[in-house]
Amino acid sequence: MATKAEKDVYAKLARLGCILCRQQGITDTDTEVEMHHVRRYGGKRNLAPVIPLCAFHHRLGNSSVHALGHKGFEKYWGFSEEDLLNKLDEK
Ligand SMILES: [Zn+2]
Ligand SMILES: [Zn+2]
Repeated sequence: MATKAEKDVYAKLARLGCILCRQQGITDTDTEVEMHHVRRYGGKRNLAPVIPLCAFHHRLGNSSVHALGHKGFEKYWGFSEEDLLNKLDEK
């Protein structure tokens, strides 16, 4: 279950819109976003940082993070989930 602090973070991220769409210059933030947990080695899921992704980039599309997997994602897009996390911090 998400804590109040987590919900605040999620709400803030949701307003940013899909971070992957943003990398492609698409800033139409009407698309509803889903929170993707970035898995770190040895990390527990509930401690994992999250990035906002639209459903297509999260799990529906062939180029989605769940379709490609950790390594495949980086190869396909030219940046990793960690890179996207860093981009969130720039905002
Ligand atoms: Zn997207
Ligand atoms: Zn996910």
